[in-house]
Amino acid sequence: MTGSSGPKNRRPATDRKFSRILSAAAKVFSKTGFERASIRMVAAKARVSLAGIYYHVQSKEELLFCIQFNAFRSIVTDLEEKLGASEVVDPTGRLEILVRNHLDYFLSHLDELRVCSRELETLTGAFFKKVEEVRREYFKVALDLTKGILDGNGQSHGSVDPRTATLCLFGMLNWVYTWYDPAKDTPADLAKRLLELYLGGVRREVKGRAKRRAQSTLANYGYADDSGEYYITIDADKCTGCKQCIDACPVSVLEMIVDDYDDELPAVTDEHRRKLKYSCVPCKPECGRVELPCVECCEPNAITHSW
Ligand code: SF4
Ligand code: SF4
Repeated sequence: MTGSSGPKNRRPATDRKFSRILSAAAKVFSKTGFERASIRMVAAKARVSLAGIYYHVQSKEELLFCIQFNAFRSIVTDLEEKLGASEVVDPTGRLEILVRNHLDYFLSHLDELRVCSRELETLTGAFFKKVEEVRREYFKVALDLTKGILDGNGQSHGSVDPRTATLCLFGMLNWVYTWYDPAKDTPADLAKRLLELYLGGVRREVKGRAKRRAQSTLANYGYADDSGEYYITIDADKCTGCKQCIDACPVSVLEMIVDDYDDELPAVTDEHRRKLKYSCVPCKPECGRVELPCVECCEPNAITHSW
């Protein structure tokens, strides 16, 4: 695989010719699809001989590899340089640099973007692995910035999963080739608008958690009567929304609800709120409290009983 001797190590003159070949290959793969494209078509597009192409690569798959590897490597290298030179330290500002860098590259390389998006799973073996390594490296930078936005120390991200949020961000960025119109959108405007959309969702979560922290995170369900207090308490700060307590309850005392902060949490159903003492008898008969399924299954200790 010439990928390891790599485009980066070529002499400048050879690089220029190889760049022309890669650019032609990206155009052909983008228009025709990788499956239907041939090396002969690439040679015609690049105006080089077949031998001229085989001087650089051994197969059509290697051409695809070089397009993808070059694209991701260029983006990561540019990004590292920009982040390294920037005085911006807050993760939102740094994510803006990432989004702008991504769009700057791909909006001037739309064929490469199409090929990277559509043919991501086409590569096999060592080719796939090498591209995957650089993609992972890139993804980690974006993931860490998203974590930084969600939570200063990256420990608690509420109902927003940073990995899912980052995947959505890339989904949004990589889908641009289907609707991008240079007459209507500049890369700078687009970067701002897409980032605002992304941050809109992320900030909503951050605001929701800040608001929740300012108030109580405990939700009590139950009642008190002459014989005592019968409350089940859910700590929203600890609850991960795993639903295990719902499955563990033998008499469906609990259900999942969406609270005022858009978090999915368990709650006692209306039917059982006023008769909890009796509803929970199958788990804790009056002769004495035993281990409670809903409490036992809850790893973060988010659920407690008052009696
Ligand atoms: S088992 Fe615990 S963490 Fe999971 S939903 Fe129930 S209360 Fe929340
Ligand atoms: S104690 Fe038993 S019946 Fe009561 S909520 Fe927990 S699992 Fe359900």
